Amino acid sequence: MSKLRFRVVETAFTKKAIEVPTPAERPSEYYAKYVFNKEKMFKYLPSKVYQQLIDVIDNGAPLDRSIADEVAAGMKKWATEMNATHYTHWFAPLTEGTAEKHDAFIEHDGKGGVMEEFSGKLLVQQEPDASSFPNGGIRNTFEARGYSAWDPSSPAFIVDDTLCIPTIFIAYTGESLDYKAPLLKALRAVDKAATDVCRYFNPEVKKVVAYLGWEQEYFLVDEGLYAARPDLLLTGRTLMGHDSAKNQQLEDHYFGAIPTRVAAFMKDLEIEALKLGIPVKTRHNEVAPNQFELAPIYEECNLANDHNLLIMSLLRKISRRHGFRVLLHEKPFKGVNGSGKHNNWSLGTDTGVLLMAPGKTAEDNLRFVTFVVNTLMAVYRHNGLLKAAISSATNAHRLGANEAPPAIISSFLGKQLTQVLNHIAESTTDDLVTLAGKQGMKLDIPQIPELLIDNTDRNRTSPFAFTGNRFEFRAVGSEANCASAMIALNAAVAEQLNMFKKDVDELIEKGEPKISAILDVIRRYIKICNPIHFDGNGYSDEWKEEAKKRGLDCETSVPVIFDNYLKSETIAMFEATGVMNEKELEARNEVKWETYTKKIQIEARVLGDLAMNHIIPIATQYQSDLIDNVYKLKGIFAEDKAADLSAKNIELIEQISKHTAFIKEHVDSMVNARKVANKIESEREKAIAYHDTIAPALDEIRYHIDKLELIVDNQMWTLPKYRELLFIR
Ligand code: ADP
Ligand code: MG
Repeated sequence: MSKLRFRVVETAFTKKAIEVPTPAERPSEYYAKYVFNKEKMFKYLPSKVYQQLIDVIDNGAPLDRSIADEVAAGMKKWATEMNATHYTHWFAPLTEGTAEKHDAFIEHDGKGGVMEEFSGKLLVQQEPDASSFPNGGIRNTFEARGYSAWDPSSPAFIVDDTLCIPTIFIAYTGESLDYKAPLLKALRAVDKAATDVCRYFNPEVKKVVAYLGWEQEYFLVDEGLYAARPDLLLTGRTLMGHDSAKNQQLEDHYFGAIPTRVAAFMKDLEIEALKLGIPVKTRHNEVAPNQFELAPIYEECNLANDHNLLIMSLLRKISRRHGFRVLLHEKPFKGVNGSGKHNNWSLGTDTGVLLMAPGKTAEDNLRFVTFVVNTLMAVYRHNGLLKAAISSATNAHRLGANEAPPAIISSFLGKQLTQVLNHIAESTTDDLVTLAGKQGMKLDIPQIPELLIDNTDRNRTSPFAFTGNRFEFRAVGSEANCASAMIALNAAVAEQLNMFKKDVDELIEKGEPKISAILDVIRRYIKICNPIHFDGNGYSDEWKEEAKKRGLDCETSVPVIFDNYLKSETIAMFEATGVMNEKELEARNEVKWETYTKKIQIEARVLGDLAMNHIIPIATQYQSDLIDNVYKLKGIFAEDKAADLSAKNIELIEQISKHTAFIKEHVDSMVNARKVANKIESEREKAIAYHDTIAPALDEIRYHIDKLELIVDNQMWTLPKYRELLFIR
């Protein structure tokens, strides 16, 4: 018999929180210290170059390459003063997370030494040796080049000793290989479309900005315990583990006092985030034990997205300083809530108006209703696509489970907004025409009363909820790049606003007054998109039935959900808005299916290994101890009495055999199912096979392992249990 192993790995950190020194300055003083923002641009760039660059950043003017050298020189001067020695193009390939390759600022000086160099050429464009990034077949080997190109709208920043330059990543042939390039195109499309529509209300509007405020949920676990869980280490989630007797049932964690060690970690994280110009504002405990949330003040969508990517890497880095590991996986633990990333989204004008917020005047409110209704239309018409945009192998554990948004996209509007929309929809054309005819541009529109939208009217089950001055897309996964959701949403809304403009202009051309034309189209739209509106309980079975009747996408298989990207209306929408073409969409779907397969494949291998190398040997060892005991009882007691005393142990011996036999059988059949699936050529079909035949086996095997966990001697069980993982001491 092998020696018993100790399960709990103590770390120095389990005892005491590390002290985080509070900087002498206030946040306002060190905020954006490591960012090459406008203030530093002004200081380090010649004034003409500064003006040109600001025009690029603020007004989307094309970047004149002739200024690149001077920008690079200024950036390098600032970076070296900040002790940076390296630079990197920082981009988001189609994996989770970001990619970077660091180069030192050095070049030969021609005199046998080196000097610090950074040219405009290196700032603007690079060709990372990146042939192993996912590309879905766009870059076959002879044109395997990809370029990273500077995105001046997101400022460069310094992490440790490296100047990071946010870039897009595209193929030699121009197709996007990342998230940023299509996001920038979608933002441009929505800017243009929304500006055109805004001009019905205010001809002064020149630009519309999409805003994003993300709320990032995450779990923390002790680093020592994490290290003893190969499943967490390799897959980001626990593939086994019986419920802890206590988890979230007392609801005592949510908004509770933050444990001292965690508070020290958060403080450290926030200081670092603020120095990187991430305006973090809110922190609190979440519903599950060891689950927390962090949210910044909302920002322009592209910048906010970069900041979310940065915060995820900061979370990973800083948690380790405090003896923690952060779990960004959507469902690290069975039986307690998973993690999401609410994407609060809205549009705002350069004249300072939030378009999703009601105003004081009737004109404001007509504009408000226009944008809300068009958003609902976009979400209705592309509800399947929006679901595809947030779907992944990992987020699948949340969606449809009884805690997070259901796997059907619908929109919560609340009582007041519902009344307003119903009122508009039910008024007759004649009313509207006379109204507009009588009162014309006075815009005194009784259909739209003064709106006081109460944003406490919340429904936590809705995947896309109106919350007062924005929509909150709640189905996004905690680990995901928000850009996926933001590309689909902004592009769909852009397409929709273009359609609205066309519909209204047609009526105006026929002689209908503008306001009447707008109301006419809105009335029609409210009726069309009514099926997307649902204020009830999104978790109920009745809703699933009802949603099917309404024609909403109810598919739950992630690989099949991805088909939404290749539907003709999706391709038409992305092409019309200039965001992506069919080839790019096809390639990206190949990557999605492949990633799905690989994730399940890794989980299946890890679970197979753990089951065969940890669980069965431990269970068998304990079973032998029990058998031994049965024999020994026979040696000292009379037969009858011995049989009586051994009855319970014999029952356990049988149960262990039953569970281990089941596990062995199912691991074998899972391996066979993998062999069959791996032979499938098509990435789509392969992913479907993994979904249908391998993913369910993971749950079945786990069930029996979790039963064994309750039977086997605690001292023998080598893996940390939920009750240890979930409660930070
Ligand atoms: P909740 O009450 O949903 O937990 P918070 O009030 O903490 O949310 O805000 C969530 C996020 O929404 C924050 O990042 C906040 O800045 C952002 N937010 C607020 N208003 C808007 C808006 N108009 N557009 C986009 N994001 C917004
Ligand atoms: Mg929220």
